[in-house]
Amino acid sequence: MQTQRLRIAIQKKGRLSKECQDLLKRCGVKFNMVGERLVVHAENMPIDLLLVRDDDIPGLIMDGVVDLGVIGENELEEVSLERSARHEASDYLKLRRLDFGGCRLSIAIDKDADYNGPQDLNGKRIATTYPQLVKRYMDNIGVQFTTCMLNGSVEVAPRAGLADAICDLVSTGATLEANGLKEAEVILRSKAVLIQSMAVISAEKQALIERLLIRIQGVIQAKE
Ligand code: ATP
Ligand code: ZN
Repeated sequence: MQTQRLRIAIQKKGRLSKECQDLLKRCGVKFNMVGERLVVHAENMPIDLLLVRDDDIPGLIMDGVVDLGVIGENELEEVSLERSARHEASDYLKLRRLDFGGCRLSIAIDKDADYNGPQDLNGKRIATTYPQLVKRYMDNIGVQFTTCMLNGSVEVAPRAGLADAICDLVSTGATLEANGLKEAEVILRSKAVLIQSMAVISAEKQALIERLLIRIQGVIQAKE
């Protein structure tokens, strides 16, 4: 279903939402977030913002339901791998890496465990929300493992006896420390990115995207 207005999917509530809204505002997009609306119309440009869970953004782009999206590379790459394994559309265009949402996806183990390198993870059970990214990393280095899929409370899995190690997002490391864990390997350094659907769009929409990109460039440079 094509509309004349450019559709941009952004996280409704969470670590990316404030900075994402700020970026759009600095680019001159005027909008008013009121209530629990799914779609917010920009007042001064043919743009609609779709406020969704971050997990839904890669699929909305890959299915061509929205034109643009802002998403963490961790989530984007996980969903892309998962969809391509199921032979579903998994392509997208990465327009620009943004200057927020920085974090790393790391494997962590018991803080008192001996660790001499990735081979020490051989045969371990790893609790994670990112099984595809863990598999890509472990297959690349040729280490055997099993996963335990958890969508929350990943960091308590070792203590609860559900897994030997975890693979989760880290920014300061405080959560790991609070749970008696230490970072063993960084498997991905992630930031928020602006992505575009591969779907064919009108020349007007494409021109609007180009204008937005130039403004984003200006906003990010002004901050540096
Ligand atoms: P939603 O309700 O939209 O599903 P969520 O709980 O999955 O939200 P958030 O915790 O808001 O997601 O994180 C969104 C993204 O922010 C992450 O996928 C990651 O790219 C980025 N991020 C930056 N720093 C961190 C961090 N310290 N921990 C987790 N995510 C971080
Ligand atoms: Zn999420």
